[in-house]
Amino acid sequence: MNSQIYMDHAATTPVRREVVNAMLSFFTDRFGNPSSPYREGMEARQAIDRARSQVAELLDASPEEIYFTGCGTEADNWALVGAAEAGRRRGRHIITSSVEHHAVLNTCRYLEQRGFRVTYLPVDGEGVVSVEYLRRALRRDTILVSIMTANNEVGSIQPIAQLAEAAHERGALFHTDAVQAFGHIPLSVEEPQVDLLSASGHKFGGPKGVGFLYIRNGVPLESFLHGGGQERGRRAGTENVAEIVGMGEAARLSAIRMEERAVHVGQLRNYLIRRMRREIPLCRLNGSQENRLPGNASFCFAFIDGSALVRRLGADGICASGASACTAGSGQPSHVLLAMGLPGELAAGSLRLTLGEENTRAQIDRVVERIAVHVAELRSLSSAYEEFRQGRVHRGILRYFPGNG
Ligand code: PLP
Repeated sequence: MNSQIYMDHAATTPVRREVVNAMLSFFTDRFGNPSSPYREGMEARQAIDRARSQVAELLDASPEEIYFTGCGTEADNWALVGAAEAGRRRGRHIITSSVEHHAVLNTCRYLEQRGFRVTYLPVDGEGVVSVEYLRRALRRDTILVSIMTANNEVGSIQPIAQLAEAAHERGALFHTDAVQAFGHIPLSVEEPQVDLLSASGHKFGGPKGVGFLYIRNGVPLESFLHGGGQERGRRAGTENVAEIVGMGEAARLSAIRMEERAVHVGQLRNYLIRRMRREIPLCRLNGSQENRLPGNASFCFAFIDGSALVRRLGADGICASGASACTAGSGQPSHVLLAMGLPGELAAGSLRLTLGEENTRAQIDRVVERIAVHVAELRSLSSAYEEFRQGRVHRGILRYFPGNG
């Protein structure tokens, strides 16, 4: 990994050494089932309870409001399907945004097939949902509003406090997918008041295959997995003790110097953005300069196939994504960029670089240098770019590159 440059932290983060150390003994000596009434079982139960407190602390939640799941996707599915089923008699209308992760969007499609109606709110050019549009979309039969805390592709941070308030004014529950935000920026379920929040261990230095759903005390939610009495009878299945312990440790570590880390990573990101905009022609920053996750830098290049660029960078030992890791290989331009108003041909030229605290300026220098080389080479193969250079066609594209042509 030494010569590799990893700039894909939104896809997954490296598991922190302390996290691995905290997990190891739960694969070997301390293998007990947390439901067993003897020492090994009780040790495992205590370890899970400690992790629950570590996660809860980062959200100002009570430990009994945290329910462990198999991943962020499961937490999103449970929140949506569980709230829809529990609220079915009160109404069948759900509101979400057009830039959610597929864990939410495809669950909404599933609910539509089950007789629920879903409104997909548009976003502005920076990927932000309007509180006013939400107010207009809310109806008497709206039972749930689900808007992500921060977007996984372009990093835009949503006005969760106002959105939650608007939902509550009309008696709807408010869920937020905080998978990209938890552990990176300060969050609290008290201010703003959210009813349901999902997160995933592997996005903040923990292991893959574990997540959690915060469920505010008293919020009605149908169970999703039926079976034994684990997780206070709400999520059956023997607990994944080692991974839960790892996620708890990752949450504890994330809390240490979180704001300082966010500032450091944000400065690196700003340096990257500055260099990219200055040195690469027809390079657009997606989303806003300020209102974004500290590590996220998302770009579009005109006359480039983003997946070809990502493959070339991969061959250089640079790990990056097109729009998101989950849509890689689908051949479809990002639904997020399209929702932000970008034309398909520009959305197809997207590159997401997501930084972590271990990245350095020297790495950024190398990455910008390689991107500049590849972009120039790929454009030299593009007949559309040649036509553009000769001033014949595609001039309209310039309006997407204010101050950078
Ligand atoms: N929600 C968002 C915003 C994500 O970015 C992701 C993963 O990329 C998920 C949900 C799914 O999480 P998991 O990979 O743990 O299933």
